[in-house]
Amino acid sequence: MVYNRSVTTVLIVEDERDLLSLLDFNLRQAGFQTLLAGSGAEALAHLARAVPDLVVLDLMLPDMPGTEICRRLKASDRTRRVPVVMLTAKGEEVDRVVGFELGADDYVVKPFSVRELVLRLQAVLRRASGATDEAAPTQVGPIRLDLASHRAWVGAEELPLTPLEFRLLQTFLTRAGRVQSREQLLSDVWEMSPDLETRTVDTHVKRLREKLGPARDLLETVRGIGYRLVDPSDAR
Ligand code: CA
Repeated sequence: MVYNRSVTTVLIVEDERDLLSLLDFNLRQAGFQTLLAGSGAEALAHLARAVPDLVVLDLMLPDMPGTEICRRLKASDRTRRVPVVMLTAKGEEVDRVVGFELGADDYVVKPFSVRELVLRLQAVLRRASGATDEAAPTQVGPIRLDLASHRAWVGAEELPLTPLEFRLLQTFLTRAGRVQSREQLLSDVWEMSPDLETRTVDTHVKRLREKLGPARDLLETVRGIGYRLVDPSDAR
């Protein structure tokens, strides 16, 4: 097929035919170009031919788990920057957490409103294009971010962050010195008032802290509330 590169192409991976048609129709109405896959194998075939701008990925597919597609996307240099929005059903929290750990950018829970999904896709694409709403500081102590390339360093050491961890770290840097509650982080980093439990935040902060290596102590736990990134230049 011929790609029109000025139009955003979304690969939709969903085995429920009615839902696939509904998403196809509505995303085209919203101005996206769509590619459709009714199975994991079809999704991988599309991805082998061309790299879309975004993937909407159902996690329960007949031939392979959606998390496996996500893992392959994020493991390849060719496709690792393609944002992934997961479609999950209630009761699939474990898959969702795995999806985030593999580098998915967002999720919606079925049943969802198509309008909400479209807004979510637009937000993810804005973030992926490097647009940022806040004039964020890009350095706190030894931690430095490059917002355009989504890379992060502690000193000279580059950090192997997932997109979600990058966003989490960016949020801490923007608000250095201020305590962030788990609920606030869920709402700002995951961008929803979520049915994810707050311990998901703990899991990701723990992992982020490990990756910060020598700077890990700057990311403090504030007992009973949440977390704070300490700016060492504030120390008196
Ligand atoms: Ca399914």
